[in-house]
Amino acid sequence: MKVYEKAPAKINLLLDVLHKRDDGFHEVEMIMTMVDLADRLTMEELPRDGIIISSQAGYIPLDEKNLAFQAARLIKERYNVRKGVYIHLDKHIPVAAGLAGGSSDAAAALRGLNRLWGLNIPQDELCRLGAELGSDVPFCVTGGTAVARGRGEKLEPIVNPPQCWVVLAKPPINVSTADVYGRFRAAGLREHPSTSAMRSAIERGSFADVCAGLGNVLESVTLELYPEVRQMKKTMQRLGADGVLMSGSGPTVFGLVAKEAKVARIYNGLRGFCKEVYVVRMLT
Ligand code: ATP
Repeated sequence: MKVYEKAPAKINLLLDVLHKRDDGFHEVEMIMTMVDLADRLTMEELPRDGIIISSQAGYIPLDEKNLAFQAARLIKERYNVRKGVYIHLDKHIPVAAGLAGGSSDAAAALRGLNRLWGLNIPQDELCRLGAELGSDVPFCVTGGTAVARGRGEKLEPIVNPPQCWVVLAKPPINVSTADVYGRFRAAGLREHPSTSAMRSAIERGSFADVCAGLGNVLESVTLELYPEVRQMKKTMQRLGADGVLMSGSGPTVFGLVAKEAKVARIYNGLRGFCKEVYVVRMLT
């Protein structure tokens, strides 16, 4: 038997860091949604015990460092599954980009193995397992749009934002999430984005207010470290995107665009100097 799962990329419409906790994690408040740029996972039973990962992408680990491997190992241990699985990752989401590619693969593996092995694990339990693998995994298990608190694992689902085009551009640098959080100083921030204002804009379906409310406090770190990310934001704004923000800890910058006619101009303008540009829809 084979099962397939789509693992979409996430973007943060809002990312606020409230403070650093005693356990070393940061207390965050985020609004996350999914976009239609996805990895595809195929999971197939093996005739013997074990976990084998393959991928067409040459640049990700295929051993126990892979988050899909870790998801399979966790579910096998916790539910005492003595079967083997072969997982193929058809990667499309850029790696270390702020788009939660690895987290989404882990979440898709949890969902898919739950089906492959007929475990009937309820979604909230899958989310708890996911939280052991990474802060963004629970959201990737549920998908949709949510306000995330705690270290990202406390989820409150909300309605999807108004449909629009999303242009994603990843400058050719890899950013370590741990490094960005490590350098972040909440005390130095002049202002925080408003979660309640963004939530209200989404619930009212106001595209203009969603664009106006975009905010990510981690830009204060990544834009200083990597001027090319700041430059990418400026270029996208200049080319006419309605709202522009860095996703997660970066370096991917996304632009929200209402009118299809504008999208081609922005895409062509960016493609001139950036190899990784994608035009997708919100996953609503
Ligand atoms: P986030 O937004 O959650 O911080 P990200 O988009 O910045 O995530 P990922 O693409 O998840 O980052 O990759 C981060 C690291 O995880 C990379 O260094 C990569 O080698 C490793 N990794 C482990 N498993 C995977 C996977 N299945 N796909 C991509 N990267 C993976």
